Amino acid sequence: MSPNQTILQLNPKQINEIKALLSTPKNIVIVTHWSPDGDAMGSTLGLYNYLNKKKHNVTVITPNDYPSFLFWLPGNKKVINFSAKTKAAKATVAKANIIFCLDFNSLKRIHELGDEVTKSKAVKCMIDHHLQPDDFADYMLHNIKACSTCELIFDFIELMGDKKLLNKDISNCLYTGIMTDTGSFRFPSTTSKTHRIIAELVDAGCENAAIHNRIYDDNTEDKLRLLGFCLAEKLTILKEYGTAFFSLRSDELKHFNYKKGDTEGIVNYALSIEGIRFSAFFVERDGEIKTSFRSKGDFNVNLFARKHFNGGGHANAAGGMSDISLDETIIKFVSLLPDYKKDLSPTPKSRIGKNKGLPL
Ligand code: 5GP
Ligand code: MN
Repeated sequence: MSPNQTILQLNPKQINEIKALLSTPKNIVIVTHWSPDGDAMGSTLGLYNYLNKKKHNVTVITPNDYPSFLFWLPGNKKVINFSAKTKAAKATVAKANIIFCLDFNSLKRIHELGDEVTKSKAVKCMIDHHLQPDDFADYMLHNIKACSTCELIFDFIELMGDKKLLNKDISNCLYTGIMTDTGSFRFPSTTSKTHRIIAELVDAGCENAAIHNRIYDDNTEDKLRLLGFCLAEKLTILKEYGTAFFSLRSDELKHFNYKKGDTEGIVNYALSIEGIRFSAFFVERDGEIKTSFRSKGDFNVNLFARKHFNGGGHANAAGGMSDISLDETIIKFVSLLPDYKKDLSPTPKSRIGKNKGLPL
């Protein structure tokens, strides 16, 4: 498959094959990427609640744990964490007739769980919106233009002719992923279709205002103080390159009693500074350096993360890993910037034409 392939819709024959597969009860496993976020858990649990309604035996398996602000999602209590319950997870994958792979497109993204998925003879269906998918699934619903995997799960339910099954639980899950992956409906990936889907989810009973509270007003004092510390003490701005970044050492995380999810979103604050088009966040966690990249406009952080940090993602939001020390990672990052100076320098006025719209 071409790495530039952007939209892979299911064709009518494939839709009928999947409908036939789902017409009798099956053992179904749904997996999502390492360190699941709102879209990963919203899409897996949205699909879980839908397939449960269709009387399948469904299990969601995550490669590792995820933030507690997602624990309220309906079906969360039944999720198996592969790192914590490896034996049970392996046995469940081994029994699966169908495996859905959601919000990722390379088995590298699910670490050791990928070996179990590879070994399995189950029918595999990937539903995802990240760039450059690998070719490991029997069926692919893949669209990099989709704002979220939750949007594609909505499409999938519609393709199955099952929109009438949308209920409060399914809608709450899908709303969560669309809301978190679009930065509350503000990123350029948000389209009129996104808003139309949201309208249908609200009509189907989703508790939109409560979801915002559950996700964004669930901060601990430690989490807010960690953010304050980052903003006050850990921000580096390199104006010349339109770049800003934060870094956190593991002792700093410990000082603020770090819990999973506490650093989520910090990278976006650097991008909110006037004139900044590229932001990065480096955190020393579990013995490795996790990197996050965000950009505005044409600077493609997916390519940057793939080339330099063994990662990937979207054009404007990507992540990766570094196996050198935190200090060395920062030195490496800063030393790469001159190569990108042309792409990162402030937007020339000539590009603010009526065809281009406002620069992002
Ligand atoms: P975040 O910076 O919030 O962890 O991730 C931003 C985006 O990049 C998300 O869509 C996420 O799935 C993707 N991403 C994060 N880390 C990695 C990685 O190590 N590899 C790849 N391929 N994608 C990543
Ligand atoms: Mn996503």
